[in-house]
Amino acid sequence: MGGGIVPTRRPLPSLVANGFLAAGDAAVTVNPVHGGGIGPALLSAELASKAVMEAFEKGDFTERGLWRYNIEYLKAYGIKQAMLDVFRLMLQTLTNDQLNRGLRARLLTEDEVLEISEKGSLELSFIDKLKIGLRLMKVPDVAARLRLALRYMNEVKSLYEAYPGSPEGLSSWYRRLVSIYREYTGKLGISMKWLGNA
Ligand SMILES: Cc1cc2nc3c(=O)[nH]c(=O)nc-3n(C[C@H](O)[C@H](O)[C@H](O)COP(=O)(O)OP(=O)(O)OC[C@H]3O[C@@H](n4cnc5c(N)ncnc54)[C@H](O)[C@@H]3O)c2cc1C
Repeated sequence: MGGGIVPTRRPLPSLVANGFLAAGDAAVTVNPVHGGGIGPALLSAELASKAVMEAFEKGDFTERGLWRYNIEYLKAYGIKQAMLDVFRLMLQTLTNDQLNRGLRARLLTEDEVLEISEKGSLELSFIDKLKIGLRLMKVPDVAARLRLALRYMNEVKSLYEAYPGSPEGLSSWYRRLVSIYREYTGKLGISMKWLGNA
């Protein structure tokens, strides 16, 4: 009967500026795979409120003074969001046929997809890995895409874990992120012209 817009993407490069911070949908704190944004909006609002209280105590509302909020948000949710965005991009490149074959082969079970979308990763026993390995062999083209996504999810995770401790490091950090995304989207065969701007 109706609908609305949900911003699904990796975290913004920064959620703060001089005298400004953003939380919730305005800061794109949404799960990129399933679009759930209520939990992360509440979480980011709580972290933002702590940053604002600290800014009042210090009398410092500059970008530098609010910077800690970026780091806290990434630790609490943003790193997972970034990894899920890599996963989302891969999912969106699958054709209907690939999706159907992947689902039929039970490439990943519903529980495993849910675990990836909840935790940003999958913890598997040796037997589970073997079972997934056998399933992957049935749909090699989809399996190759999945492997690619998992590899870049890890790369992106490492980069976000090295998010700069202050605003000065942001532009060089962001250049590295764009370069990983360009490489990844190039391999997926999708154009990401906007990557230079956001
Ligand atoms: C159709 C749909 C279904 C969804 N289903 C789910 C779901 O099942 N589970 C889930 O977790 N998430 C879901 N989401 C996402 C979730 O609703 C949002 O991520 C979440 O509500 C974001 O919270 P927020 O407080 O950041 O923004 P919002 O909830 O959008 O709140 C922003 C508020 O600011 C007000 N506002 C805007 N401009 C101004 C202004 N200039 N001055 C004063 N006020 C202003 C708006 O009226 C609004 O009340 C869904 C979204 C949509 C569109």
